[in-house]
Amino acid sequence: LLQTEHLHKSFDNQEVLRDISFSLTKGEVVVIIGPSGCGKSTFLRCLNGLEPINSGQIRFHGEEISAQNKQLHRVRQKIGMVFQSYDLFPHLSILENILLAPMKAQGRARQEVEKEAIELLTRVGLAEKRDAYPRQLSGGQKQRVAIVRSLIMQPDVMLFDEVTAALDPEMVREVLQVILELANTGMTMVIVTHEMEFAQAVADRVIFMDKGVIVEEGQPEKFFNCPQTERAKQFLNMFH
Ligand code: ATP
Ligand code: MG
Repeated sequence: LLQTEHLHKSFDNQEVLRDISFSLTKGEVVVIIGPSGCGKSTFLRCLNGLEPINSGQIRFHGEEISAQNKQLHRVRQKIGMVFQSYDLFPHLSILENILLAPMKAQGRARQEVEKEAIELLTRVGLAEKRDAYPRQLSGGQKQRVAIVRSLIMQPDVMLFDEVTAALDPEMVREVLQVILELANTGMTMVIVTHEMEFAQAVADRVIFMDKGVIVEEGQPEKFFNCPQTERAKQFLNMFH
């Protein structure tokens, strides 16, 4: 579904991603972990064409993703991304925030998307907040709205970049629960997280990155219980 081959990415003179070859199949959930600054966010941003790359290839449904690709906006609609900050429009209600992109970018009829929006809001436990404004919601609730806003575009893949990192601990759970349920529905996902228990629970495959390279990857049980590399062991020890 989504692939990179020998991906290299630099900022100025600093090589941030070095020779990343990665492949994601439909329905798979891959969790990426690694120390701060190792290139996780940059990698996700490359995956949906937000960052130009220096060399290598990225393919989505077999089609090359590049900053020059004129179809890029269509590709991006099919690759949903949720970040640490939720960036909801403060002057729009929750429902209007969710309807904006499908109506404007996809030209879908209000009636149809509204029905879907309510269904999705119900799924994340926020149906009663449809007419509220972002400032009236908690961080965890806003993050769940941000997930709904992505899902309504009917993406083939969802990318999550530390979506709980800015949340108070009691709100982390409710957001992770939504992502876990999404995994159970078969959504294809790439998740960057520092929540190790969650990572183990949700992942089909774990990728450990350090300094711009994939150091180790494998099944979660194996990776978390007996990491093969010294660097992965050291990293995991910080969470004990
Ligand atoms: P964290 O866990 O802290 O979020 P990360 O693994 O997501 O870290 P990235 O944000 O991908 O790391 O950053 C990788 C490296 O690239 C860092 O050294 C960072 O300083 C650098 N970097 C990221 N974005 C830019 C940019 N727009 N311009 C210049 N350097 C950047
Ligand atoms: Mg990051």
